Formats: sequence, structure tokens, C-alpha cells
Amino acid sequence: MSGNQTELKCSVCQRPVSELKPYGGPGDPLNANLTGQKLVQTRRYMAPTYATDQWPLTGLIKRDGMIDEAAFIAKYGEKAMETFWVLTQLQTTTSRSTECRDCILLDDDECLKIQEAGYERFQIRSIMKELAAHYPAVKLLGGGSIK
Ligand SMILES: [Zn+2]
Repeated sequence: MSGNQTELKCSVCQRPVSELKPYGGPGDPLNANLTGQKLVQTRRYMAPTYATDQWPLTGLIKRDGMIDEAAFIAKYGEKAMETFWVLTQLQTTTSRSTECRDCILLDDDECLKIQEAGYERFQIRSIMKELAAHYPAVKLLGGGSIK
């Protein structure tokens, strides 16, 4: 592989394919015929389940189980309402993820925390940054600040 070619990496731990242990053999986390393969395609939710925790919904749920938008806006503001809905969308939307055998069984929240912790270029981080530019109420997942 030439030096200026981008090496494939695990979407979660970001280790390059040359450092990854292939699937197959003892301890293979997947019960599939992937022996020798180093990365496997999966799908992950785009925002963790805790993304909307900063807006507790106590007292904001109507009898029909829906969120009382007027009450939500009165409590947290209109921008927060918009951000909340966007994040709710991301929490129910998946995107493609290419993962090594160490990461493939992590749950989505764990996965997003790992990605957030180390990698500026991770998708959700840029989505969050973009959101933050429009909606000041958005905080970076995991409590970090947006730079
Ligand atoms: Zn990995």
C-alpha cells in the first residue's frame, strides 16, 4: 500500500486494518462465516439514547403519551424543542459502520462514546457541531464542550 493511500480503519476504534485481528477462530464474536475478514459492515444508531437526557420530560407528557410541545417550549425554549426533535430523529436513524471483531458487539451507546472520546472527524460529532451552530442548547454528547 502506498504511503498516501488511506488505509481502511475500524469505524469505532479507528485502528487501521493492518493492526486488526481477523474474524474467525477462537473468540470470534460472530457466528458467521467471516474467517479471515478484518472488517465487517454493520449499522449503528446516529445518536445515543442519552442524547436527549438534558431535557427531562417529567410533567411534559400528555395523556396520549405524546410530548406536550407547548409545555416543553415553555420550560426549555423553542430552540431546544427543535434540537430535541432532530436528536430524536438521529436516535432512530442508522448509518453504516465498518467494524473489527473487538467492536462489533459493543452496544450503540458504548460505541458512540468511544468514537466521541477520540475522534474529531466522527460523524456524530460533526452533526452535533452543526446543530450547535444553529441551536445553542445542543451540548456535545458525553458532556464535552463544542469547539
Ligand atoms: Zn474496532
